[in-house]
Amino acid sequence: MSARIIAVSNQKGGVGKTTSAVSLATALAVAGHRVLLVDLDPQGHATLALGFDKSALTISIYEVLAEDLSAQSAIAQSRVPHLQVLPANQHAAGLELLLGQVEQRETKLRDALAPLRDRYDYILIDCPPSLGLLTLNALTAAQSVLVPLQCEFLALEGLAQLMQTIQLVRGRLNPGLRLEGVLLTMYDGRTNLTREIEREVRAYFQAPPSGLGLPRTPGAVFQTVIPRSVRLAEAPSHGIPISEYDPGSTGALAYATLAQEVLAHG
Ligand code: ATP
Ligand code: MG
Repeated sequence: MSARIIAVSNQKGGVGKTTSAVSLATALAVAGHRVLLVDLDPQGHATLALGFDKSALTISIYEVLAEDLSAQSAIAQSRVPHLQVLPANQHAAGLELLLGQVEQRETKLRDALAPLRDRYDYILIDCPPSLGLLTLNALTAAQSVLVPLQCEFLALEGLAQLMQTIQLVRGRLNPGLRLEGVLLTMYDGRTNLTREIEREVRAYFQAPPSGLGLPRTPGAVFQTVIPRSVRLAEAPSHGIPISEYDPGSTGALAYATLAQEVLAHG
């Protein structure tokens, strides 16, 4: 059995990528699956959210992608059983620029993860808020993309560009890449705005605008929505995933339900 690799991506900042990557990875591990979380964002927020001290890490995703160290040498066990992390440290800030200068620049991550695929059931990649080379590496390495969308004004802005990038990667680098699902985050069902955005997003994937080259993808939007929750926002500052910080909270339960939906995808 070889790991299913899922990139968590949206070039828009602050939409819940890291929260989703960390919380879903944790929920899958709690459900008994072997999970690797790859922190591909030079901000290193996923690394911090799991309680690692970035400045104390001597080997990280930077050394793996830029200096060809083995991914295995950088992997650390997290506080959650079955959940390991390929972390980012301060060096990672130079990664995007450096990747531009190397050979096989889009397949670096795929190659680095190849020897690890039989050790995990799921590999999740937390992407930076851009469509640069790091994200291209994630989309090339992954089998599917999970796209968090914040239930706010302009939620759909930039989505067409992301879908075009996915198409481009499909055409040139990774023909099997598919959409794992769109995840509505920071959902507040009491507001008209949230409900309006949900309707709009679900309609978009039922009948995507022509010219995008997107197949109609009913079911592309996860049934599970992630509620706006103070507990989810607090957990990372303690370096503890939500499943431990407040297991009974609405946020923890939502990510556990999302994990079941992802597992049902096969
Ligand atoms: P970036 O683009 O900078 O990487 P991101 O897309 O990874 O951001 P997060 O870091 O996950 O987004 O979330 C942005 C902010 O919103 C964080 O402060 C986070 O704690 C908070 N947040 C995320 N999800 C929720 C939620 N469901 N309810 C409340 N706050 C949330
Ligand atoms: Mg992030």
